Amino acid sequence: MLKGKVALVTGGTRGIGLETVRVFKENHAEVILLGSREETVMKAIDELKKEGHEVSGYYPDLNNYEEIEKTIKDIIDKYGRIDILINNAGISANKKIEDTTSEDFSKIIDINVKAIFNMIKAVVPYMKENNGGVILNTSSMVSIYGQPSGVGYPTSKFAVNGITKSLSRELAPFNIRVNAVAPGVTRTDMIASLPEEQIAPLIKTIPLGRIGEPRDIANAFLFLASDLASYVTGEILSVDGAARS
Ligand code: NAD
Repeated sequence: MLKGKVALVTGGTRGIGLETVRVFKENHAEVILLGSREETVMKAIDELKKEGHEVSGYYPDLNNYEEIEKTIKDIIDKYGRIDILINNAGISANKKIEDTTSEDFSKIIDINVKAIFNMIKAVVPYMKENNGGVILNTSSMVSIYGQPSGVGYPTSKFAVNGITKSLSRELAPFNIRVNAVAPGVTRTDMIASLPEEQIAPLIKTIPLGRIGEPRDIANAFLFLASDLASYVTGEILSVDGAARS
């Protein structure tokens, strides 16, 4: 489904991002993954190589625009184009407001929101030059319902939806589609710290009767990145088993 496309995935070293890299490789895209550290980027590249997938990787500071610009230029020099950008890197929060510092709040906005702005700003000129592209952001079901603690996280995901909706309108005349996927609870390191006794009652609230797997989310990215979604833009696609809480 992605033959001839060049895709860039942030937070591609584990969880949803790594699975998205895998699914995109299975669908014949060229993939470049971004991670936060050299060590984790190399580990992911090695793991994928053992599975028969060749990918390259970079580890720019996503809050440093100059570093991102340089990385994007390197990728363009090597691959000639970027067709698909997946903004997936993110961190979560769960502290009550009394225990959340102003710095905690800024950190989550920096990684979950500002980094997406930086990536899109750096990639859009090349997509415009190429007469099109696809930008996909990772939102969350908490961007619709909020959550009972860790206010910075849902706040950041409401902002992701705002970036998605606004830029879908700004970039549509350039044939650049902008969408987001809003996962429900998904089996990655982000929820690994939850004890089984918290997972079981959680599953009871999900009509499909299970938590999501990274592949459920990666498949949604695949659809939105492909030409099958050629008339879909500005959409926040829930992939959550109809969980509504
Ligand atoms: P994860 O913790 O397994 O992966 C997070 C990824 O983000 C990693 O690759 C990590 O390297 C990267 N990252 C984190 N901080 C970074 C930084 N400062 N700089 C660069 N990269 C950084 O989690 P995941 O569940 O795979 O999360 C991926 C996305 O899915 C996130 O945006 C998250 O908010 C969203 N999401 C996850 C769930 C869930 O239940 N797992 C639900 C809804 C949304």
